[in-house]
Order: sequence, then structure tokens, then C-alpha cells
Amino acid sequence: MRFPLALTVKIARHIVKHKLRKTPKFAMVLQLEPLHTCNLTCTGCGRIREYSTSLKDMVPLEQCLAAAQDCDAPMVSICGGEPLIYPKIEELVAGLRTQGRIIYICTNGMFMRKKMRDYMATVFTPEMEPKLQQLVAEKLVTEKEAEAIRNADAAAKAKVVIKPSKWMYWNVHVDGLEFTHDLIVEREGVFKECVAAIKMAKILGYQTATNTTVYKETDVQEIEDMFKFLSSLDVDGHTISPGYDYDAAKKDMVKRLGRDPKEFFLTRDMTRKKFAKIEEWGQLFTIFGTPVYQEFLAGKRELTCTAWAIPTYNVKGWKAPCYLMTDGHYPTYGEMLGTVKWENYGVVDGVARDSRCEHCMVHCGYDPSGALSNKPRDTWINMKYNFGAKPKPYPASADLEKRAFNGVTIGKGHLAEAKAAINPAANARGAFTRKEEEHTHAPAAGGGCGSGDTSQRDDLLAKIKANGTVTTKAE
Ligand code: SF4
Ligand code: SF4
Repeated sequence: MRFPLALTVKIARHIVKHKLRKTPKFAMVLQLEPLHTCNLTCTGCGRIREYSTSLKDMVPLEQCLAAAQDCDAPMVSICGGEPLIYPKIEELVAGLRTQGRIIYICTNGMFMRKKMRDYMATVFTPEMEPKLQQLVAEKLVTEKEAEAIRNADAAAKAKVVIKPSKWMYWNVHVDGLEFTHDLIVEREGVFKECVAAIKMAKILGYQTATNTTVYKETDVQEIEDMFKFLSSLDVDGHTISPGYDYDAAKKDMVKRLGRDPKEFFLTRDMTRKKFAKIEEWGQLFTIFGTPVYQEFLAGKRELTCTAWAIPTYNVKGWKAPCYLMTDGHYPTYGEMLGTVKWENYGVVDGVARDSRCEHCMVHCGYDPSGALSNKPRDTWINMKYNFGAKPKPYPASADLEKRAFNGVTIGKGHLAEAKAAINPAANARGAFTRKEEEHTHAPAAGGGCGSGDTSQRDDLLAKIKANGTVTTKAE
């Protein structure tokens, strides 16, 4: 089976229950944002910019759990911000499991290994030594960390931790291979850390998934290589969605990066071209998302937006109409459903009801439309896809590994040119300079992401500026 039976049955039962009751609108996935603080400042992330004035605010644990009960979605995607910064993340995961929900922790991967070490400390017994040795041998855990796991004290052993479970996925943000991903997240070394975290998770028996946003500059061949590489790591599934120029991300493009959003985000026509091979990918790799949504992305059909099925809850309440656009926040899911004029949003037969929806084909608006379709043919292809054989992992190879680590690992990170400019004798000019010259690194306007650390790159650029050796376009 492509997806675990228990999870598929749970989701199917939820849909059937609401169809029998003729519920007009109901939630399939809750996007729960307990906080918007993040340790990164990814290009194109509207979240940390839209909520820049409330980055220190958090949704209390009980309120998070109450929101899940309020909308009763069978799946909860804990996102943010970076959810692993949320101080009660372990208790939140445990609470959602007690409610019987499927959980995706959408993370940038930077704190995953720490959370998994915490887990190991609570369950460590001498029988686990070979596994710990394997982690050390593969440089996923240091000797010092291994010792801390072996000698965990009573307090460390008593911690609430995130345990491997068939009901839970680490959902790691990966937007391309090393060079591209590090460039998009605006920090070198992040891709490498994500890969290490995924490897460690697989050794410990966690389920892993990845989520990827495709932008205008994204190279389709690179995405295919990325899927091959992630599949070779035995990642359990992938979400992929087109990047969309929603308001907050658009403003950031203009103000912080000095770029026209049209250079970066996809129109509908461009999306269809980028996703022309999505159905093929769906056969080769475990792509999450229905085949109906894949047909839509490939331009083979139209769908009507069902943003109410993937609602977002955050520090301000239930965000409407969707994850991307904010026309209001509501205290309850029911109030949001009843108040929002849903018929004013989306694109119907190619005509946008709201101009801001014109180019949107994102999964949080249209993937549920595929799952909830009433057409027997759609139900059949969705079932066939879910119950079909899971694609085999792509064979690992040195060549694939080499293609994946094409950035800072081989001295061609996006800072390579800057480093070479500071010390030309010690650093050869980076060959891979295609995007750096179009990029600027000033902190987000209006405070941006409070804890986002761009200091490494900012320091370099300050030195370069002082030396007068390099000027970047937007500076
Ligand atoms: S990891 Fe990147 S995309 Fe995710 S919340 Fe942080 S800045 Fe935004
Ligand atoms: S089409 Fe739907 S998901 Fe997309 S921006 Fe409009 S309301 Fe939001």
C-alpha cells in the first residue's frame, strides 16, 4: 500500500461520515501554528513576515488541543514558525495523539536531532547500544551526545518526548538540492542538517516526509533529482505545492529583496508547465496528494477551491479564508465557516472570483477538492492510488549523493563568492554564482523574523561592503 492502512481508513471514515451526514463543509487537515517564531528567514515565507508583530506570542497548549477538537480534522499539521521551538511541542504531540489524530510536524529540520536524542535518553537500555553505535558511526550523534544518552539522569528520563509512531510524521521542509535549498532558506548547512535528521529518524523508526514549494526559478530536473535522493534515503512521502505570491510574501519580495514578485512566483500557466510530470512522479515516488489534485496541477482539469477543508489556527484565531490570505480571524471554526462568504473565493472554470486567487493552485486550497470529489471516477482513481503498491526506494549511489551535495559541501555554497571576495588567495571564486548576485541579505523590514539568524552572511557582506570589493544588486 502506498500509505499505511490504518491512516487511510481513518481518513476515509471521516469523509464517509460527513458525506452520509451531508455536512456541507468540514475540516480534513488542521494547520496548527502554535507560534510564528522561526530560526530561519526563508525567502518567500510570508508567515514570519505577516505575523512579525506577534512573533513572541504563542497559542497555549490547551488552546491548541481545543482547536483540534473544535474542527475535528483527522490530521493535524503542526507548523509555524518552527514548531520545534514551541516549548510544549512534546505535550502537544502527545495530546493530539490522545485525541487519536494523525500528526505531521512541519519542521525546517534544524532541531530534529536534538528532539530525537531526548527521545533516546528516555528509552535507552544496553540493548539499544548497537543502534547508538550506528548513529555515532554515521556521524549523526557525537560521542559526547552518545554518552549523555547512556547516562541520562532521572529528569532526562522522565521528559515527555516525541516517540516514533505510525500516526506521526516528521515533515521536513526541503526546497531543492543543497545549493538551492540553502539559498532559499538563506543559510548554508541547512540541507546537510535536514539530511542528517532524516537519516537519524529512519534509523530510529520514525516516519518521515518532506514538503517542497516550487518557485518560478525552480529547475524541474533538480526537483526530480531531489525526489530520487530523498527516496534513496527511504523517506516515506512527499508533499509538493506551487509557490504562490500571497500578500505577505509579495511585500517581503519588494521591500527586503528589492525584487518583483513576478520574477519569483508562479502563474497558473507556469505551474502547469512545472508540474507537467507530476503524475509520472506520483508513480515513481510516494507523493502525498490525490491523483485528482495531480491532474489539476498538470493542467488536465479544473477544481474548485475548498480552503475550508484545511483551516489554519494560530495566535489570532481561525484564519480566513485560507492559509495564504487573511481577511479575518475568527474565535471558532464554526463561526469562520458560517461567516466567511466562501463563494467569493477561488477560481471557477478559469475565472477568479477574487483577483488574489487568480494564480493560486496550492495544495491547501485544492488538494482536499480532489479528495472530496463526488465523481465516481475520481473516487476510484484516488482509491487506486492509495491502495496501490508503494514505489520502491530509488537506489542510492555515489553519483546521486554527489548531485545532492552540490553546494557548501563542495565549497560552492551561496556564500562562496562572498568568501572568495574577502580572501581571494584562499578561496577560489565560486563557480555556482547564478543566484547570489540577485540576492540581498538585509534583515526583514519591520523586524522580520525575530530570531532568524542571518548574521553569518550579513557579517560577510558588511566586510565586503567595507572593502569595496563586491556590491550586490539590491544594496
Ligand atoms: S522554516 Fe522558513 S518557511 Fe518555515 S516558517 Fe521558518 S522561515 Fe518560514
Ligand atoms: S484559491 Fe483558495 S487557497 Fe488559493 S488564495 Fe484563493 S481562497 Fe486561498
